[in-house]
Amino acid sequence: MLHTIPGFARIGEENAFAVLARATELQRQGRDIINLGIGQPDFPTPPHILEAAVKALRDGHHGYTPATGILALREAIAADYARRYRAEVSPEHVMVMPGGKVTMFTAILMFGEPGSDILYPDPGFPIYRSMIEYTGARPVPVPIREENGFAFSAEETLALITPETRLLILNSPANPTGGVTPKAEIDKLVAGLARFPDVAIMSDEIYAQMTYDGLVHQTLLAYPEIRDRLILLDGASKTYAMTGWRLGWSVWPQALYENARKLAVNCFSCTNAPTQFAGIAALEGPQDAVKGMVAEFDRRRRIVVDGLNRLPGISAVTPKGAFYAFPNVSRTGWPAKQLASTLLEEAGVATIGGPDFGVHGEGYLRLSYANSAENIIAALRRIGEFLAARKAA
Ligand code: PLP
Repeated sequence: MLHTIPGFARIGEENAFAVLARATELQRQGRDIINLGIGQPDFPTPPHILEAAVKALRDGHHGYTPATGILALREAIAADYARRYRAEVSPEHVMVMPGGKVTMFTAILMFGEPGSDILYPDPGFPIYRSMIEYTGARPVPVPIREENGFAFSAEETLALITPETRLLILNSPANPTGGVTPKAEIDKLVAGLARFPDVAIMSDEIYAQMTYDGLVHQTLLAYPEIRDRLILLDGASKTYAMTGWRLGWSVWPQALYENARKLAVNCFSCTNAPTQFAGIAALEGPQDAVKGMVAEFDRRRRIVVDGLNRLPGISAVTPKGAFYAFPNVSRTGWPAKQLASTLLEEAGVATIGGPDFGVHGEGYLRLSYANSAENIIAALRRIGEFLAARKAA
């Protein structure tokens, strides 16, 4: 009998990958499937980024790099924050990671242990809770509510902090809701956090460059009073359509940086070298591909929200960021997960049930609009026909 640690009985996963596998299997069987389940841009990585990686390999950059990432990339990341946010970040505090996820894994491992509490958004990215559970810490969901436009509430968040709270996880713009928390609410939260100086903050800003309606992203880096306990999670996956390259990074406070570096040495040694060179090209090169992609997401966002609001029993608030809509489907009479799986099997439309993002996701579906406008329109038509033909099971 093999004895693994109890954490493995509690670790979860991302159902989006299971939905993708099922959608692919149905397609293999010849079914026509429209995939609105997937959380990655449907655009190619811009060619100049690709070329930089090829050149790096040709130039012989095929070996290990420093565990924290090559200096030129860390400098490019710091310069990008100076340019976009006027935030002062030292390259000495930047860690390059093989994907955005690795920062959350590292941060949660650092603070999670039995007897500690970690606060995380619900509905939210499922790996937050999964990793918290794995460490034995108590997962404390911060409800993210439709009536607040899926922004988090400073007051509700602060009220959940206890003497056991070690880490607070924030995410704006948010997956799965597309919610963006307004600056005034973030100001309020940061002011309130002064009462809890021992609580670390991990701000997941992986969708920072995907905001709409002229909204300017409010980074947590902008608050000097919390910089000594802020971990900023960021990366290239979404912004530069690079999900498969595995390139993320994070900004760490001085006090935690050595721990993060040691975990990197123990786990992955370094991020793929040509990928890091691609990252320099991404940050220092032209940004028009990013602007074009965001403009196209904006166009589709309107199509998806308009279309959803015309369907019987469905209502959708307009997402202000990322590339997801999170419609309320409770009035259809279907439990959300059952609706998602039946839509896939019977209508050929892949979506994700809200409960896959936490208990507060019941009654919602996540639709990614990282698919063509034509496919989105066809998917909405299929959902409408399905709902008209089928009453709740
Ligand atoms: N954070 C959020 C909120 C995400 O939605 C995702 C990916 O879907 C990640 C982090 C992880 O990104 P990566 O693919 O770079 O690991």
